[in-house]
Amino acid sequence: MTDKITVAGVAVDTRHFIGAERVASAETFTDTSPIDGSVLGEIARGGRAEAEAAVGAAKAAFPAWAATSRAERARILHAIADGVEKRIEELAIVETHDNGALLRSHRRGVMPRVAHNFRFFADWLLTLDHDDFETRGHTNHVSWDPAGPSVLITPWNAPLMLATWKVAPALAAGNTVVLKPAEWSPLTASLLADIAAEAGLPAGVLNVVQGLGAEIGDALTSHPDVRRISFTGSVPTAQRIAESAAARLTPLSLELGGKSPLLVFADADLDLAVDLAVEQYDNAGQVCLAATRILVEESIADEFTRRFVDKASRLKQGDPRDEATDLGPNIHPRQLEKIDGFVRRAIGQGARAVIGGTPDTGLGGLFYRPTLLTDVAQDSEIVQEEVFGPVLTLQTFATEEEAVRLANDTRFGLAATLATGDHERAERVTARLVAGTVWVNCFFVRDLQAPFGGSRHSGVGREGGTWSFDFYCDLKNTVTAP
Ligand code: NAD
Repeated sequence: MTDKITVAGVAVDTRHFIGAERVASAETFTDTSPIDGSVLGEIARGGRAEAEAAVGAAKAAFPAWAATSRAERARILHAIADGVEKRIEELAIVETHDNGALLRSHRRGVMPRVAHNFRFFADWLLTLDHDDFETRGHTNHVSWDPAGPSVLITPWNAPLMLATWKVAPALAAGNTVVLKPAEWSPLTASLLADIAAEAGLPAGVLNVVQGLGAEIGDALTSHPDVRRISFTGSVPTAQRIAESAAARLTPLSLELGGKSPLLVFADADLDLAVDLAVEQYDNAGQVCLAATRILVEESIADEFTRRFVDKASRLKQGDPRDEATDLGPNIHPRQLEKIDGFVRRAIGQGARAVIGGTPDTGLGGLFYRPTLLTDVAQDSEIVQEEVFGPVLTLQTFATEEEAVRLANDTRFGLAATLATGDHERAERVTARLVAGTVWVNCFFVRDLQAPFGGSRHSGVGREGGTWSFDFYCDLKNTVTAP
């Protein structure tokens, strides 16, 4: 194993970052690029020993970091954001080679947002307070005490964005961190470790370990010294992690999958509704929040479908490094097989592919054609299960009542999107939807101070603004006599 690989001219350390040291493992796993299947490198494959070392480093660093003033913690978080901003181009190019998402969106959207994650939570920390109040002359004072070493486990679909959405508030709160990125996209987390060290984050405050979920992931989440586990990923993994956490009563935050609806009412601006629907193919459909179930009022279904097909057929699928590309590849051969399996089974059960329905083998990578399926039954797998690829279903409804019933008829509850020109209808429908986020005539507009998370199988807890600090802190109320 070599210690460093070069990805499009950017050097990336393939070892763990534990304490202030780079640490190798005897074993490795192979990281490949979804763009063309090329091998990017061999990455350290940690296990129980590396988990022990990383949690040990986080535990040793905790008392000093927890005692560091809020102002100093905020200063260092801003310095990390500066470091991210200086390296936006490098981070963007490495992330695109590693997970196949569009370079232009990494450059202009994702990596600036990574920096913003640090700035936002640094600034929020300085305003975080709770007014003292009195009980029979006694003062109640609420303090936000750091909870301790925190394990953060993240998926591959938006690797550095989702990792820093957890790392930034955990560090701001005064916790120390062990971050384990997904094995299909391990690289930018390693660059983040370099950036944090250069920004002056003390040794052991942020540790990054690499490896497989069932190995080092499991060792981390079952470790008795871990005081918080924050996980973003799939429901089956969350269930395994919750079992480990239950044995030690480790507090958990879970951000999981979805099968979100887009409800299009006849009174909607149809061009806007079509734009919203086509947007669901972003990131080749690998977005937890994607509204993959399009529910359209019967009276406009034909016109909506015609305009949708017209617009979706003009999407350009190809190399994610090309500025003109709209849809890149899917992450891994296993993911492509999984997507294709869902579509084949749906078609086998009578679904009709209005567009797409097969992989695109002509493009040389892991591409699946943007797909729209109609004639799907409400209780079918394709309507009920998350595909995590560019596959949408279209169903119709006759009444508002039916629209709400179909929208809520799922075990998930992450998000919902409405297209309607009637504000009263929007309010009525929104009040009845089970979802952590509802967008009305828009999609993906997010403010970090808003609560974010899912209901039902889409998650446990909320992150964002004060909710993140609520999770990463042990709140303490001190009652003082007059
Ligand atoms: P996954 O559950 O397979 O893996 C996620 C992470 O968990 C990886 O780092 C993996 O190594 C680790 N892991 C696997 N087994 C583990 C174990 N036994 N113990 C500890 N860690 C383990 O999910 P994925 O395929 O990487 O991600 C896709 C899923 O993530 C989708 O369901 C998607 O909807 C969801 N997601 C949710 C959000 C959200 O904010 N709600 C955001 C992005 C993705």
